[in-house]
Amino acid sequence: MSQSLSSNSHSGSIVAPVAIPISALVPWAIFTIVLSLLLLYFVGAEQGATSLISGHEVHEFVHDGRHLLGFPCH
Ligand SMILES: [Zn+2]
Repeated sequence: MSQSLSSNSHSGSIVAPVAIPISALVPWAIFTIVLSLLLLYFVGAEQGATSLISGHEVHEFVHDGRHLLGFPCH
């Protein structure tokens, strides 16, 4: 059985990539953009007057990321 599997991988056949229609990608692109903007907000602006969540838990959780990306902090 293992010999037949290994012999198939050396047959030289070319595997064509599967075409994905744009309409199937749009929801994932929108989801990725929204998730990225949400992450950017929490890392870059979730503090002080622009804070949506009271307390310092979110600020402290993303604190190293904030400094790594060069956002002003303290
Ligand atoms: Zn800081």
